[in-house]
Amino acid sequence: MGADFETHLKNAVRFHGHLCGGQVLGVRIAMAGLREMGIENSRGDEGRNLVIFTEIDRCAVDAIISVTGRTPGKRSVKVMDYGKMAATFLDTASGKAVRVSMHPDAQEKITALMQPHMPAKNEKSANIEALKVISEGDLLKIQPVHVAVRPQDLPGESLRSVVCACCGETVRDMRELYCDGKALCRPCAEKTAYYQPIGESA
Ligand SMILES: [Zn+2]
Ligand SMILES: [Zn+2]
Repeated sequence: MGADFETHLKNAVRFHGHLCGGQVLGVRIAMAGLREMGIENSRGDEGRNLVIFTEIDRCAVDAIISVTGRTPGKRSVKVMDYGKMAATFLDTASGKAVRVSMHPDAQEKITALMQPHMPAKNEKSANIEALKVISEGDLLKIQPVHVAVRPQDLPGESLRSVVCACCGETVRDMRELYCDGKALCRPCAEKTAYYQPIGESA
C-alpha cells in the first residue's frame, strides 16, 4: 500500500529539514505523478524504471525524492532547473511519461484560500494550509508527454569513460567533447568552469 498524504509530508519534512510550501507541493506533485503512472510503491519493483525530471532545484525536489525514493545519485532524478514548479515521471521501459505542473491559474485560487487564515497565521503558514486543501484539479495540470532520454543519461553502467587529453581527469558517461580528434572534458574544451583554481598556473 502506498503511504497517505500526511505520512509522505511528515517524511518529506524530516528529509528536507523544515515544513514549507515546497514540501506540500512536492508531495502532491509526486503523489499525482505516481498515481498517473500506476505506481503504488515506487521503491518496489514497479518503480524500477522510473526516472523523474524536476524543473526546479528548490524545496520541492526534496519532497519528490522523499516520496519516490528516486535520487540524482541513482540517476533517477534529473534536475532540469527551468525555475518552474513541475516534474515529469517517465517509465524508461515503456516510454510512458506524464508531466505534472502547477496550474497556471492556481495562484489566484491559492491566494483566495489563504484569506480565512489571515491575519491569525502568517503568510507562510496560510500558504501551506491553502496548498493542502486546494483541489488537485485547481492546483495541478497533468499532461501525457514524450521524453527523448539519451542512453548515456539512463541509470546503470557508464557507457563510456575517457581521459581528458588536457587535464588528465576521467570523464564518464559520454560528457566529453572532441576537438581535433582529442577527447576533452567540458571545462577544458569550452574553457569555462564554475570554479577557478587558486594559486595554480593554467
Ligand atoms: Zn523548504
Ligand atoms: Zn580536462
